[in-house]
Amino acid sequence: MKIDDLLSSIEPEAVGRDIYQLIKEIYPFGRSITGDGVRRTLDILKQYIPLEIHEIPSGTEVFDWTIPKEWNIKDACVKNSRGERIIDFQTSNLHVVSYSIPINRIMSLEKLKQHLHTLPDHPDWIPYRTSYYKETWGFCLSHNQFLNLEDEQYEVFIDSSLKEGHLTYGEYCLQGETSDEVLISCHSCHPSLCNDNLSGVALSAILGKYMKALSLRYSYRFLFIPGTVGSIAWLYTNENRVPRIKHGMVLACLGDRGKSTYKRSRRGNAEIDRAAAHVLKHSRSDYEVVDFIPYGYDERQYCSPGFNLPVGCLMRTPHGRYPEYHTSADNLDLVRPESLADSFLKCLKIFQILEGNRKYRNRNPRCEPQLGKRGLYGALGGQQDAVADQMAMLWILNLSDGSHTLLDIAYRANMDFRTILAAADALRDKGLLEENKE
Ligand code: ZN
Repeated sequence: MKIDDLLSSIEPEAVGRDIYQLIKEIYPFGRSITGDGVRRTLDILKQYIPLEIHEIPSGTEVFDWTIPKEWNIKDACVKNSRGERIIDFQTSNLHVVSYSIPINRIMSLEKLKQHLHTLPDHPDWIPYRTSYYKETWGFCLSHNQFLNLEDEQYEVFIDSSLKEGHLTYGEYCLQGETSDEVLISCHSCHPSLCNDNLSGVALSAILGKYMKALSLRYSYRFLFIPGTVGSIAWLYTNENRVPRIKHGMVLACLGDRGKSTYKRSRRGNAEIDRAAAHVLKHSRSDYEVVDFIPYGYDERQYCSPGFNLPVGCLMRTPHGRYPEYHTSADNLDLVRPESLADSFLKCLKIFQILEGNRKYRNRNPRCEPQLGKRGLYGALGGQQDAVADQMAMLWILNLSDGSHTLLDIAYRANMDFRTILAAADALRDKGLLEENKE
């Protein structure tokens, strides 16, 4: 089956439901940049794709960074003088600052306050905080809960461990006809947060599941890695593979109600940038294409000047631009199956362009070939598309001088790539085009 067949047979409602269900299943796990929460998550993903699990030991130097100690947590709470667990890790893993060191101590409210984090502007939400590279501890709670704390002694308890261990990541390479690769990368290091983190994780896994059965031109490499240090570690340990990456996308924040946003690679006009912009433009819904900036997700590493890979980032509302970002409100209500399905289909359509984008040479370049005698009038699609199909054929025949790609032609003709692709297939089948593989 080709990607075109998959796109025409897919049921968006079913895909949206699948992705949402997977998010729901892995939502409760206490993930961080290392530890068992990540391993549990990857174990679940194995039900969808044959994921390879990699473990890199703490202390390993990866470029300018060092793989941190492994962090795990069993329990944590703050108890009031009546022994009630008033801040309780068991009710939300966001209550504990990620990478908090263990502690078991009685202290005053004043002392405790130095380790509490709240969001006064959103007094019902719990913030998400981390402290990966500075050893400390802390609790996060809603501002309303904070205002209700009485001036008394509190028992502070964090049953965590921070010791030599591993950084865990998952990798799946879907082999295509060629060893040229398309990289799909998502971060899997946030605890119970849906849009930022799990939407990318679940959507990538389901993409892998659906694409597994396809016959593909490119090989597709899926990475499920902790943000920043994960991509740095992967690039460090896979330098020999890097030249194979011809296109790539970081996937994140794909399930909210907002419009789709594509962030270009550092190159700015790479094929992936043009393919993604084309799909969004022809999606008949609002969208935004933004230039690369050296802030955001792992595209920062892939697009660092020493690699400068053609890797962009597909999102809906970008990180930091929705109020629920990095709070307990980035939950199962924020992500919607319809948005997830829409993002999923856009990914497939972008890959469809990468798969089908070729340069052809018109074998009959002196004056127009006679299409009628070859049965090429109204031969594709329905009658209402006949005019568009014919225009597509004329554009392809005119611009196929061996130097324009089909995507170039789609842009120039201002037509959907799929119309151009279908017309090119028809012309090639009648012997009017030959591929220029140079
Ligand atoms: Zn984040």
